[in-house]
Amino acid sequence: MEERRLMKESSILDVALTRLDDAARHLQIHGDVLERLKYPRETTKVRLMIRMDDGSRKSFLAWRCRYDDTRGPTKGGIRFHPASTAEEVETLAFWMTFKCAVMNLPYGGGKGAVQVDPRTLSKAELERLSRAYVQAFARIIGPDRDIPAPDVYTNAMIMGWMADEYASIVGQCVPAVITGKPIALGGSLGREDATARGGYYLVRHLARELGLQGRMRVAVQGFGNAGQFIASLLAEDGHDIVAVSDSRGALHCPYGLDLRALLRAKAAGLPVSALAGQGGAVAVAPEELVAVDCDLLVPAALENMIDEENARRIRARAVLELANGPVTPEADRILEQAGVQVLPDILANAGGVTVSYFEWVQNRQGFYWTVEEVHERLRAIVEREGLQVWAIAQERRVPLRTAAYIHALSRLASAIEAHGTQP
Ligand code: GLU
Repeated sequence: MEERRLMKESSILDVALTRLDDAARHLQIHGDVLERLKYPRETTKVRLMIRMDDGSRKSFLAWRCRYDDTRGPTKGGIRFHPASTAEEVETLAFWMTFKCAVMNLPYGGGKGAVQVDPRTLSKAELERLSRAYVQAFARIIGPDRDIPAPDVYTNAMIMGWMADEYASIVGQCVPAVITGKPIALGGSLGREDATARGGYYLVRHLARELGLQGRMRVAVQGFGNAGQFIASLLAEDGHDIVAVSDSRGALHCPYGLDLRALLRAKAAGLPVSALAGQGGAVAVAPEELVAVDCDLLVPAALENMIDEENARRIRARAVLELANGPVTPEADRILEQAGVQVLPDILANAGGVTVSYFEWVQNRQGFYWTVEEVHERLRAIVEREGLQVWAIAQERRVPLRTAAYIHALSRLASAIEAHGTQP
């Protein structure tokens, strides 16, 4: 992998691949396995054309990457973001490959994106864009081939439009082609808060090992779907949410923020900083959030938010990565030296794809579970895999991230080898 890095220094996929290198050093892995895992299998790029409400036509770049399908059909969300690039999509698809392997889901990894700021589109334009995405990629996706889901700035409504478009293209209802759908269209109960809930079960189960017993002070970076749900789940258990941030600002109160008021403000489209001055809450710059005095820091926004520059300022005991790729490898080293435990993304935020898997299973069997059954099955998987990752970290004296990659890589390697030597 060294030559690859020299060819294209500092690309985000190459940075992500250093995690694979770290894990491979701890296992007897055949070179063929690494050769297979260090490149995406296929990435398709298209330009989507849609009619805008004013009658003009506008085009948007879009991608779908199927990184690796050794363990099953590729699985991963579709992101709508103005800064998305092919390389970001490939990196996210690489993480999905390892995430599904960590949780032992029968999937490979994929990802998609449209380079767009969805907040600039009307609802009708957003629907046309979502349908155009499926028209462009209908031959690539499929319930046994590649199964999309929501990601940053996409949601159940968008998944519903996409499922509907796919059904009209193939001429039959195929709910298992996409997950994160509205309940009315075959979505699963418990999918909406699944990413946060998986992280919550993980922290709760490993609390003693992480030194997080008792009432915790929690700081949440990013107050979207995952951020709001993790704050609610932890607050219900009596923990204090001492700081939250969104893309427009941050709010801090050392004694705990009024979470209900915050959720109401977000639902009304207000930034979290709108509550500054109420109940002892003070507005702080968003970049100050990581430096807040707390026990648990939860990055729930985008990639690379914790880097060499700000990692030294972290005062939390543990970091729960609900975002994908929020901590850079340099920051990881700083946190390790400081004794801060990082619960890595591929384990910590895998609740979302795990309940997506449950949705796919329910769609295929045509028999639906109660929300209690969904929670119970999710809890069992998170606790089982979480403990195994913890045990690997202890045995091999490696950080939890390396342990999670070792766990995933050994499953991927067995599958790659089991497929045989052709080609
Ligand atoms: N976008 C989520 C993730 O990054 C969920 C993917 C899925 O459900 O397929 O894990």
